[in-house]
Amino acid sequence: MLPELAEFEDIILQSGPLLRVKQHGEVAVGSARLPLYSASLGSEKPDAPVLGFFAGVHGLERIGSQVLLAFLRSLLVRLRWDSSLQRKFETIRLVFMPLVNPAGMALGTRSNAEGVDLMRNAPIDALEKTPFLLGGHRISPKLPWYRGKPDAGMARENLALCKVVQEELFCSPFSIALDCHSGFGLCDRVWFPYAYTRTPIQHLPEIHALKSLFDQTYPHHPYVIEPQARQYLTHGDVWDYLYQLSRQPGTGVSGRVFLPLTLELGSWLWIKKNPRQLLSLLGMFNPVVPHRRQRVLRGHLLLLEFLVRAVHDNARWLPDEIERIDHLRLAESLWYSGIRK
Ligand SMILES: [Zn+2]
Repeated sequence: MLPELAEFEDIILQSGPLLRVKQHGEVAVGSARLPLYSASLGSEKPDAPVLGFFAGVHGLERIGSQVLLAFLRSLLVRLRWDSSLQRKFETIRLVFMPLVNPAGMALGTRSNAEGVDLMRNAPIDALEKTPFLLGGHRISPKLPWYRGKPDAGMARENLALCKVVQEELFCSPFSIALDCHSGFGLCDRVWFPYAYTRTPIQHLPEIHALKSLFDQTYPHHPYVIEPQARQYLTHGDVWDYLYQLSRQPGTGVSGRVFLPLTLELGSWLWIKKNPRQLLSLLGMFNPVVPHRRQRVLRGHLLLLEFLVRAVHDNARWLPDEIERIDHLRLAESLWYSGIRK
């Protein structure tokens, strides 16, 4: 049994009626069948502001799932005694999908059981040149970053993820999604779309306002916040796809603000202190030494808690029409002056 799945099921069992759990089918690994769960807590009003937490899209990057599960467990304990949190949860909804790709996690692979990289699998093609293989390809599922067959549609795991976002987040005028990954980076990054183009998203002013709020509230935070396209372009990014879907007329609330963020934990921070981790594939993407793992589990609570408060009080920091112009100007010079064609 997967330890992260066992932990999630234990949390679900102990939560009682606080957690509303849904199963979105299952995936097979050999003779075992692994469920695709989501769980929500807080307000059930469709128009409540929503914060969605996702992890485990890449099966090797288990630390993201562990960070979310530790956070969920802590929230459920606090909801028993913390009246300020109880009041917050009367007006906001949190949605958790901490094991998007349980088959990959069970097999110890980045991809799902069919060799598909779920972050290259959405129906969206890069508009500019992508790095060979890394940007997504259709050569073979034996190679990493495989997009899947052209006419196969999205993988079951991605369909489940998109369903959760469409059902639980798109009904709200304001939502943020945070998808937790870990990569071979030198620092912790928070990415926002797009990955398929260097053109900014429509809600760049809102992203910049959120970043300014975070910078001002926690001036010493360690995160580099930037559009993914500053690092590299890819095909098939699910958050690009969902962001574009959120902008289409007729998909629920009009004028909706949906801000998808990806947390990319930099594993070099752990590896440089314990280079032997390089010898194991899991060690490259997860802190192995227990005290370092604990530091990672608690280290990101600041960001997660900040997002809860930012979603709850979105009306107090979202820019109006005039402020949007300033934020757009600042955001373009910060992120796009050197990378636009
Ligand atoms: Zn990843």
